[in-house]
Amino acid sequence: MALPYHERTHHCGELRGTDVGKTVLLVGWVQTYRDHGGMVFIDLRDRGGVTQLFFNPDTDPLAHGVARSLRSEYVIAVRGEVVSRGAMVNPKMPTGEIEIAVHEIDLLNKSETPPFPIENDIDTNEDLRLKHRVLDIRRPVVRDALVLRHKITKSIRDYFADNGFIEIETPILNKSTPEGARDYLVPSRLHHGSFYALPQSPQIFKQLLMIAGMDRYFQIARCFRDEDLRADRQPEFTQVDVEMAFVQPENVMQHVERCIAAAAKVAMGIDVPLPLPRISYAESMAKYGKDAPDMRYNMTIKDVSEVVRKIDFRVFAEPLAKGGVVRCIVVPGGGEMTRKETDGLTEEIKGIGAGGLPLVKVVEEGGKIVPQTGIAKFLSDGEVFAEICAATGAKPGDLIMFAADNEANVCKYLGWLRQEVAIRRGMIPENDWKFCWVVDFPCFGWDEDAKAIYPMHHPFTSPKDEDLGYMKLGTDETPPAADLLKMRAKAYDVVLNGIELGGGSIRIHRGDVQRKIFQLLGLSDEEAKEKFDFLLEALKFGAPPHGGIALGLDRIVMLFGKFGSIRDVIAFPKNARASCPLSLAPGHVADSQLEELGLRVVKSK
Ligand code: ASP
Repeated sequence: MALPYHERTHHCGELRGTDVGKTVLLVGWVQTYRDHGGMVFIDLRDRGGVTQLFFNPDTDPLAHGVARSLRSEYVIAVRGEVVSRGAMVNPKMPTGEIEIAVHEIDLLNKSETPPFPIENDIDTNEDLRLKHRVLDIRRPVVRDALVLRHKITKSIRDYFADNGFIEIETPILNKSTPEGARDYLVPSRLHHGSFYALPQSPQIFKQLLMIAGMDRYFQIARCFRDEDLRADRQPEFTQVDVEMAFVQPENVMQHVERCIAAAAKVAMGIDVPLPLPRISYAESMAKYGKDAPDMRYNMTIKDVSEVVRKIDFRVFAEPLAKGGVVRCIVVPGGGEMTRKETDGLTEEIKGIGAGGLPLVKVVEEGGKIVPQTGIAKFLSDGEVFAEICAATGAKPGDLIMFAADNEANVCKYLGWLRQEVAIRRGMIPENDWKFCWVVDFPCFGWDEDAKAIYPMHHPFTSPKDEDLGYMKLGTDETPPAADLLKMRAKAYDVVLNGIELGGGSIRIHRGDVQRKIFQLLGLSDEEAKEKFDFLLEALKFGAPPHGGIALGLDRIVMLFGKFGSIRDVIAFPKNARASCPLSLAPGHVADSQLEELGLRVVKSK
């Protein structure tokens, strides 16, 4: 008689020594098959884990006969008795104390030979794994990633639900919201020539919800951005989207950090000390060269512009004369770095635009601290070098590496260098989790190519009250870019180990301020109306002060689970060419579908 597989008693990761003697019914996939002189051993796998089965030809010849026909990934149900493995305990397996003496077996389905072994450590290229994602997900690492994602998502959802937030869905078929990336467009069948855009984020809708009085919203929202897929991006990704009314940045930040701490506890069992440190954008750029500082190691950037002004060295003097800066990092014990290592760094820093990598070793000679190699001869003035060492804390044995250029470039070069050196010299402690908030971002950045300002976060971000004066509100005047670039925003990013987990801001809730910002960003009144009329209209009807944030869920799961890529934590990810190797999306459509949509495809050459 067939075994009632729907009445399984345990999953395959569940049984322990204390279960010995029980009769159990298990179901799952054949992981491995071993024939030991008549006795057949099978590792049976399901979502919960693996249990060893054995089939004895003397006591259970029928079951043994079936077992001998089993192959990898066959689907079976078995009934048998839990027995102790005695001296053969396998401490590496949670179920390693026991095995099942199988008395009955049902073969529920066969399987072709899988294209790669269903094991954690396999040497198979990712496209093949993604093509056979069904089998790939059977591998414990991938399964665990999806389970972890579920747990983190649930803890986030629970946090917000328990704190008075309500989950509201916003539309997927939209007009485009400008988050800076390209939209995915969906042609309309009923309005030929018109297109929906998939949301890059629910930004405007969550603001509308605040104006609608639905204070405290959240959503685990799918977002779509049609960008060139650099490194680790996905065309669709998931954001934890949050918005609150009547708040200042602190209120949003407090909730978000508590929510992140709760998720970190669930995912990693760690206690994140709260409140998280807050650092201003300006300080982050000055010390770390980036707006997402990695605080797991020191080696912060030091400014030596004033000291080196005193020496005659063209590489420093020229940028200083143009209003630039000279900054450095001190590599502890870096004096031991080989010429090959520093030459390698020099080549790479040139690759990101620097003219070179001026450096000098700090050595002790006859009781005196002196410069050696690199630019040592320009620092032969003992006093200047002593001042540099004092200002930077450099000690004998250290290596000082400099960058001299305009401030933005120096940040870029030293931000990169600080991280590269830390990685290469093993300075980053393992299992260290350094979260922080970066606050007081500038409202605008400067686009050198377009010679225009652009919104650092997005155009709905509120300037800080004390900086509103730079905007010349209530006039048609456009203030000088230099003034606008001084404006700081009520914007904040949360960062983990040098990686941005998410960012948000307090929004503009005054129609006049919003219109002025659009105008400063070069949007004519007509364009602003065409694109954002529904927001501008809503702002007329008693919009409360409001603000929020969006966190990258994929990234959080990836980091908390120590995975190498966000593809590892998405069930069915796209590859670097934005295709799905499994379903082969995107695909062609029938001519009749195009006709209905009023579309004609121009064949690319
Ligand atoms: N909508 C923003 C983003 O996707 C986040 C926010 O401001 O809440 O980056």
